[in-house]
This record gives sequence, C-alpha cells and structure tokens, in this order.
Amino acid sequence: MGPHANIELDALRHNLQRVREISPGSAVMAVIKANAYGHGALRAAGALVAADAFAVARVEEGVVLREAGFQKDILVLEGSFGGAELQAASRHHLMLAVVRPQQLEVLDRKVLPQPVNCWLKLDTGMHRLGFQLPQAREAYQRLQACPNVGGPVRLMTHLANADNLQDDTTSKQLAAFLPLAESWGVQASMANSAGILGWPQSHGEWVRPGIMLYGASPFMGGRGENDGLKPVMTFCSRLLAVNRYAKGEAVGYGGSWRCPEDMPLGVVAVGYGDGYPRHAPSGTPVLLNGQRVPLAGRVSMDMISVDLRTQPDARVGDPVVLWGEGLPAEEIADCAGTISYELFCGVTPRVRFRVSN
Ligand SMILES: *Cc1c(COP(=O)(O)O)cnc(C)c1O
Repeated sequence: MGPHANIELDALRHNLQRVREISPGSAVMAVIKANAYGHGALRAAGALVAADAFAVARVEEGVVLREAGFQKDILVLEGSFGGAELQAASRHHLMLAVVRPQQLEVLDRKVLPQPVNCWLKLDTGMHRLGFQLPQAREAYQRLQACPNVGGPVRLMTHLANADNLQDDTTSKQLAAFLPLAESWGVQASMANSAGILGWPQSHGEWVRPGIMLYGASPFMGGRGENDGLKPVMTFCSRLLAVNRYAKGEAVGYGGSWRCPEDMPLGVVAVGYGDGYPRHAPSGTPVLLNGQRVPLAGRVSMDMISVDLRTQPDARVGDPVVLWGEGLPAEEIADCAGTISYELFCGVTPRVRFRVSN
C-alpha cells in the first residue's frame, strides 16, 4: 500500500533530446549528481548514454559510476577534496573542476597513477566556489604547466540567478567570463538548465543540464511542459481510508483544519517519511483518480488527508498522484515553499521505484 516513484526513462531520453534542440551547438554534460536528483544515478546514466559526458558533485559519485562500468567522461563539479580523493579521481579517470587554490597545490605535489583532466572554475558572481578573476590567468597557466594535468584545461563558471530572466546578474557574469574564454581560446561551460532555456549567450561549448533532464522547469513559476519537457518521476500512492466527519471536526495533528460542513475525507498513504513535503499547506493539490482534490490539515509522517467533497464516491485503493504525470512537481514545490529539485532529492529510501524503459 506504500507510495511508489514511477520512473519513465523514455522521458529522460526525450528531455536530453530537448536539450540538444535548444542548444544545438553545444556538447551536453548530463548532471546526475545527488543520485540523479533522486531518480537513481545508475539508471539515469544508463538512459542517458547519448549525452557527451556526465557530471556529478563528488568524487565518490563518480567512482560509483565507474565501478558500474560507465566509461563516459565524468566531471566532478566540486573537484577533489584532499590527496586521497585526487588519487581516486586519477585512478578512475574522473575529470576534476579546480575550484580553489589548495587544489592546485595538491595537484602540484602528488604523484598520480595518471594525469587528470581539469576544468578551471571561475567565480563570476555565485561566490561559492571558483577562482576570482584576477587570479584566473595564473591558475590557468599553472594548471597547463602541471605534469599531473592531462589534456587541454577547460573553463567553467556557474550562473547564480539565471532562473530569473529579469535579473541582470547573468548578463554581468557572462560579460566577465566570455571574453576570458574567447581570448584564451579554451572550451567553456556556463549554462545550467536555466542558462540553456533562458540565456542562449551562455551555451558555449558545453552545457550542463540538471533539472530539465528530469522534466521540471528551473524558472520561478515555470513549468517544464511549456519548454516541451516531460516529467520523469511520478510519485504516486493510494487511498488508504475514506471517512465522513461532521461540520467543525478537526483533522490531523494540531487540528489546524476543520471540516467546513459534514463531508467525506480521504487518507492517502504518503507522508514526510516518504518525502512528501511537510510544509505543504492545506489546499495543496493532490491528484485522485486523475482529478484534483485539496490536501486538508497537516502532513504526517505516513499519511495525508484530502478533502473528498468533489469525489464523494472515491474508494479505498483508488490511485493518487502526488506529483509527476498530470500534476507538475513545480506546482507542489510552489505550494510547499520549495523547488522541484528538493522534492525529487527528498524521496526517501522507503519509497519503492518502478522503472519503465
Ligand atoms: C547542479 C549543477 C548544475 C545543474 O543545474 P540545474 O539547475 O539542475 O540544471 C550545473 N552546474 C553545476 C556546477 C551544478 O552544480
């Protein structure tokens, strides 16, 4: 009776194709960090064989892909942390982002099994990782000269506000970054999903789509569907109970919601223990038998209640969709004050996955 996450690998392939259509001149590095945004890294990697490379956040995530037999280029977006990780990256042919000066020192010092490919990351406004622009040239030359670095050094930066098309931060970041990449004649990568969809100037030689591959829009108030994307994950469950309560009765923990009239209520087998957001307020839509019904009262660990006044004939066992096909994850995220990324990553190990090819 527990909830399931249905994963449509065809939708993943379709969304990769959309990336290709939207950024036709760019190679595609499919971002499958954080267990492919909760979708399952190995199954996502298997479905995304048509990508030009993969990207993960951490060395460990790259090693898992290598050990599963994936041979494609894999970029570690945070780079390596210390000598042991650098060794592991070298042994497993992982490409590293070089994001701070200490990484250069470790690269200079270590004896590695084989040279590593490096992407120099510049901080153009995110102010998280990356070299500041005045230090960029020196870091680039040092990397090029380092015997542990193989192949051409490439250049990357990360866009901080690309999800807001009205914000001029992205234009400023591009104005700082693009002339450097051009004058050095190196391959460059700037665009996350928001860059790909909203900022064509950011496409460069390599794009790095994450969320759009999983079918969701990176934009505030956006819907993946409007960009021709298909949801990959459908989070679903079933109706566990149907009850009638009298006007004025309180529902759920804290009794924050009261029946406005004598009415039927349904209980759905899903809760924050499965990854349904606890902050989703009453009124958040839930798809029952393909029709929307509103959440009523607080989300519990294993259950939620829904107002069945529009579906008085609903029965125990009827199918429920929490997000995915027919109910955009972006909409649920908006209701719960979060983003689709967090919903996807938050599905817990208790949820069983069903995968369709
Ligand atoms: C996660 C990540 C991406 C992908 O971002 P989306 O918004 O999911 O497309 C791209 N680049 C870097 C450096 C990232 O950390």
